[in-house]
Amino acid sequence: MNRMLLDRYQRPLRNLRLSVTDRCNLRCSYCMPEPDYVWLPREDILQFEEIETLVDVFTNLGVDKVRLTGGEPLLRRDLPELIHRLASRRAIRDLAMTTNGVLLASQASALRDAGLHRLTVSLDSLRPDRFQHLTRFDELARVLDGIAAAAPLFPGLKLDTVVIRGVNDDEMVDLLEFGRRHGAEVRFIEYMDVGGATHWSMPRVVSRREMLATLSAHYGPIAPVVEESSAPADRYTLPDGTTFGIISSTTEPFCESCDRSRLTADGLWYLCLYAAHGTDLRRPLRAGVGAEPLAQLIR
Ligand code: SAM
Ligand code: SF4
Repeated sequence: MNRMLLDRYQRPLRNLRLSVTDRCNLRCSYCMPEPDYVWLPREDILQFEEIETLVDVFTNLGVDKVRLTGGEPLLRRDLPELIHRLASRRAIRDLAMTTNGVLLASQASALRDAGLHRLTVSLDSLRPDRFQHLTRFDELARVLDGIAAAAPLFPGLKLDTVVIRGVNDDEMVDLLEFGRRHGAEVRFIEYMDVGGATHWSMPRVVSRREMLATLSAHYGPIAPVVEESSAPADRYTLPDGTTFGIISSTTEPFCESCDRSRLTADGLWYLCLYAAHGTDLRRPLRAGVGAEPLAQLIR
């Protein structure tokens, strides 16, 4: 392995978000608010072999955690095959995926069998009308079926909820109770002004401080979990021992300990969710450039 790559703030490059498709079967208002999108042409999307080549370059530079994402990753054809190939790499200590759960019920066991270590399902509301309003599709029942199918197969399942004022901020307790019933840890995410979030505004952000106030008004004293972690979520414990997380990217950003970078489905590499410019890795890859010059480009 090459020397672990550190950036100019001495942060290691350990965590790679790998987008396997730009397509999605939902249109969450905070992410893809328009009814129609022009998707990337098929030939622009990295093939599995190309993904593997790039992942090997990244793991040689210190990446040991890979999270598959999208768009909606379960729309990528033969995804379990890619998972199988990545899971066989010893350099990847942690192979995870974030999904909206719509297609999860029928795929959960294939994902598990392929070697996926950990799973996160996004769930912003338990109310069908709200879910449909938020995502433009009446798919809550399928998401809930997906969670029920995946929870026994993926112990430590996580449920990610973007909390938006006036939209779902009154469901935090219901979501925690739902997570508890499924043995899943809920993580509340502050609404971020990223990418497609065209309707973002600061008054719609529910801060970590407010989330904790709401939850402690209901449950009683909440204690922070003390742990060394580069995970974006700060974890907390309710009086009965139930744990949950808060990702306070907007009001209390964790940039100084962030070790994430992102590779888009068409091979652009971004150092931050807020980054305006990425580095094109597909072009040199397809021009036949070898692993060392690709590593040099990343360095
Ligand atoms: N489609 C999959 C899903 O929804 O889980 C994976 C991709 S999605 C972009 C990954 C996560 O980003 C989801 O949990 C989603 O809620 C979150 N996200 C998207 N836009 C966001 C925003 N503006 N603020 C906070 N989180 C956001
Ligand atoms: Fe699709 Fe996920 Fe974005 Fe929602 S958050 S539109 S499910 S990619």
